[in-house]
Amino acid sequence: MINWALTTKWLNHNAHGSATSDAHSKDVAWKIKTSTITLPTLGILNRNFPDIIKNRTDCLPCNSEMETNHHIWRCPVILPRLLTTCD
Ligand SMILES: [Zn+2]
Repeated sequence: MINWALTTKWLNHNAHGSATSDAHSKDVAWKIKTSTITLPTLGILNRNFPDIIKNRTDCLPCNSEMETNHHIWRCPVILPRLLTTCD
């Protein structure tokens, strides 16, 4: 079940003050991509650009499995960093 009131508050939160700042635009883009599972992870980049990525799909921070949109939320290195920045 999606809490739409909380989701709207999260999407509209601006930690940068100015509504037209580059940092705020970058944050909004990241929020939309993470919530729609469209972050350009190494798994997706390797699928779309195999000659550029050269079969490099493992998560760069932990090297334990393929970097996917689902792995980002379970990664033992990334998840603690995300939780720390939410404080
Ligand atoms: Zn990882």
